[in-house]
Amino acid sequence: MISRTIDDNLLNCPFCRRPLEAPGEIKARFGSSFEGGRCECGAVFVYDRDGHSLGDAYVDALGFLCDDDWERVWSLSPDEDYEVLELAYDSRRRKFGNERRRMANSPVFLFLRLKEKGAAADHE
Ligand SMILES: [Zn+2]
Repeated sequence: MISRTIDDNLLNCPFCRRPLEAPGEIKARFGSSFEGGRCECGAVFVYDRDGHSLGDAYVDALGFLCDDDWERVWSLSPDEDYEVLELAYDSRRRKFGNERRRMANSPVFLFLRLKEKGAAADHE
């Protein structure tokens, strides 16, 4: 069961500023599931409620980003092929907090977005 305690009007995609829906349950490839969602701009996010399994959340997010195309996942390079943003979720203020002040075990949203190939090559 997913408890939808997050007010979906208060969270915005950090890449495009569109409002995000509250995280829902996403089925991962190996029978596990995680909480996350997708933005219209192509970004995906994973909600890590405890903030201490970010490695797993990162892999989940990558698989989600690539539609479970794991060959593609492992061929991607961070910063080069996709952008990553890690945002602490301030459950008291119900908005993203400052990651520098993140407390241990606080909830974290992990956002990934593929960089558009050739987007920077405006001088063909
Ligand atoms: Zn977006």
